[in-house]
Amino acid sequence: MEEIDAECYNRNIEELRHREYPMLQGSTYLDHAGTTLYAKSLIERFSADMISNLYGNPHSASNSSQLTTRRIEDIRLRLLTLFNADPEAFDVVFVANATAGIKLVVEAFRDSEQGFWYGYHRDAHTSLIGVREVATENRCFASDDEVETWITEPVTSTIPQLFAYPAQSNMNGRRLPLSWIERIRSRRGDATYTLLDAAALVSTTPLDLSTPDYSPDFTVLSLYKMFGFPDLGALIVKKSAASVFDRRRYFGGGTVEMVVCLQEQWHVSKSDTIHERLEDGTLPLHSILALDHAMTVHQELFGSLKATSQHTAYLAAKLHEGLRSLKHGNGMELCQIYKEPTSTYGNAETQGPIVAFNLRNHLGAWVSNAEVEKIAAVKDFHIRTGGLCNPGGIAKYLQLAPWEMKENFSAGQRCGNDNDIMRARPTGMIRVSLGAMSTLQDVVSFIDFLKDFFIQDTPRLLAPSLTPLLVEPAAQGSMHVESLAIYPLKSCAAWHVPHGQRWEIRPEGLAWDREWCLVHQGTGAALSQKRYPKMALIRPSIDLVKGVLRVRLDGSLQNEAVAKEITVPLSANPRLFSDQAVYRHSDAKVCGDRIRANTYKSAEITSFFTQALGVACHLARFPPVGNGVSSIASSRHSKAHLQKQRKISNLHVPGAFPDAGSLAPITAAPNPILLSNESPILTISRSSLNRLNEQIKLEGGKAVPAEVFRANIVIAESLDCPPGAEQPYAEDDWRYMQIGDELFEVLGPCRRCQMVCINQQTAERNQEPFVTLSKTRRFDGRVYFGSHTSHLPQEKPMGMIQNPTIMVGDPVRAVEDVAAVED
Ligand SMILES: *Cc1c(COP(=O)(O)O)cnc(C)c1O
Repeated sequence: MEEIDAECYNRNIEELRHREYPMLQGSTYLDHAGTTLYAKSLIERFSADMISNLYGNPHSASNSSQLTTRRIEDIRLRLLTLFNADPEAFDVVFVANATAGIKLVVEAFRDSEQGFWYGYHRDAHTSLIGVREVATENRCFASDDEVETWITEPVTSTIPQLFAYPAQSNMNGRRLPLSWIERIRSRRGDATYTLLDAAALVSTTPLDLSTPDYSPDFTVLSLYKMFGFPDLGALIVKKSAASVFDRRRYFGGGTVEMVVCLQEQWHVSKSDTIHERLEDGTLPLHSILALDHAMTVHQELFGSLKATSQHTAYLAAKLHEGLRSLKHGNGMELCQIYKEPTSTYGNAETQGPIVAFNLRNHLGAWVSNAEVEKIAAVKDFHIRTGGLCNPGGIAKYLQLAPWEMKENFSAGQRCGNDNDIMRARPTGMIRVSLGAMSTLQDVVSFIDFLKDFFIQDTPRLLAPSLTPLLVEPAAQGSMHVESLAIYPLKSCAAWHVPHGQRWEIRPEGLAWDREWCLVHQGTGAALSQKRYPKMALIRPSIDLVKGVLRVRLDGSLQNEAVAKEITVPLSANPRLFSDQAVYRHSDAKVCGDRIRANTYKSAEITSFFTQALGVACHLARFPPVGNGVSSIASSRHSKAHLQKQRKISNLHVPGAFPDAGSLAPITAAPNPILLSNESPILTISRSSLNRLNEQIKLEGGKAVPAEVFRANIVIAESLDCPPGAEQPYAEDDWRYMQIGDELFEVLGPCRRCQMVCINQQTAERNQEPFVTLSKTRRFDGRVYFGSHTSHLPQEKPMGMIQNPTIMVGDPVRAVEDVAAVED
């Protein structure tokens, strides 16, 4: 076994990092398996080349065309040489990415009349798994042993066979035996073809194709994973296997010699070289030209791929060691690492520079990866979490049976959503991956980050304390409403209800709160401040006298091209007052749920928001509540922000419930509040905020204003409250709350994300308050601040029928039991 020692670590990279990777300033990038980063020199040389040379589309007689053709021929040869592939025995086909290379091979097999058998290893990337859908027969090999056995079995099938596997798992970096290729060839003969997915492997490690017999028939890779740029993939074909492509039926510009299409249909495909036959359409010529510089710069900066392999193997060993050493105060290990028993970190034969793991708290419970990702984002760590495009590996290491995965799917789990712990088990992983320009400091910073946020030295309180329900003395005045805010435009700035003005409470929340939203013109999805922080600088206000929503822009968004202000009638149906149709109906998506929204047609309005944000968007209005359409979906989506539900009722997963017929459909209960995890009204407490700010300042941070929490109601203890009598976080234990004459149910604490770090005045992102919240208010792996509340309608004495209202200054008290209010 090749042991990696400290000499393999290339210290020069620490200095080179500052010079060549300025975009990494302040960030710790640990997602090289997603894509590695391009060097500054690469971009500079590529642009200089583009600016100083005239490159035309290849295959013409012009000088510019000939220049391109010549360069591309050289680059092809250079890429083959990088893998020691003899151009006599191999050809390289440029494709968009590794997946496109796989599809090109599969297209040829699919077009064969006999069909084909397809075998793939459990550790395959999703892009390899999809091949099974077009194969006549397929088999997933659940272990290396199964592959070993199959290799020695006699070949019985008469149809062509294709066996595919990754040289390195993109999930946990384990490296699979390359010796399979030669053994498959010698034991199973020419009818079994091999497809090697080298996309993950070659990003840090050489691949040697010097002996054709030991080399795959087809090798796919992603060049951006090696060099960060260009966005290009390659398919390396062994010429002895090229006859497979004779079956390919499609041809396109570039891959055909002559085509007859009038009266008769006849064509002659190109037959000179494999790449000429397979590269349909114009080549990505500028990307291929960039590849030349990418190879040059990579070699100058890092030397050989072998050196990169040793450097990253050393770092991976350190990372693995560091993660394993992390323990809670009670001795419980923090990380559950998903490693193949036969792999060893530090040994580049068996293991690449990727670690996949999950975190557990000191009691052994799983920490939600969505939360880890949020905290990591605030501290500027770039990692990947979730299913990692590796369903077989995930199922194996997390021990998820197919029925469990289907049931999780039925219960709302999707690639990329927050449902990452289901039935007390993780459904995804955290992946940390290293690249050529990673340094020891990256590894140390990440270990320190985990220590800082996830190690529990002394058992911390896990849930809000179970003190008995607090009952405020009936004497009113100990607490009051300090301020009231609404957000007429979802995710834009707050508008404060003026002092002295009573404000209406409607069934769906405070009047005019989140009545409008901005939707992306392309996707129809509602825009959110999380992605577009500048939305904080769009300042709506409600003018009840003129009956309009007025929207102004912060000074920093203003320019000549944009109107300073626009107004939109508050009336939901302005058609009553004018002939012109105001809306076009369209589907919009809010929080992943499809809703019907009314999109404003006005070019002026559209241009106002589009210019202000620099994002093509429309203004949309949620349809009114209680418009006669009584389905739950329509009422709860009338303001879809209000209730972000799991849409259990209308999901149908074939085969998910074998006995679905006998199961009563799981339908949404009629009370939208029960289903919601976001409520109509968000309340925060000044005392809790004061406590939080004290904690932030203790750590040397800057206190945050209440605005960052985007609450509707801020309650505060009275100014004459004696020192030390404040009760921060008392609201955690409240069940009901009385404000003025109105009663509210306290539904539970509000789960927070990094959006609370956006300064609502400047739209800048900070680290606080999320960092301190993560340390002081994290329960069961989730971060909470503020309470979801909803209004409880009450019968009013005759003659007093009125809309319920609330006002700044109204007294507030906690109520244990609703009956108590009636006295
Ligand atoms: C990244 C990756 C792929 C997919 O590559 P694309 O360039 O996105 O098509 C396939 N397999 C493995 C092992 C990978 O790491």
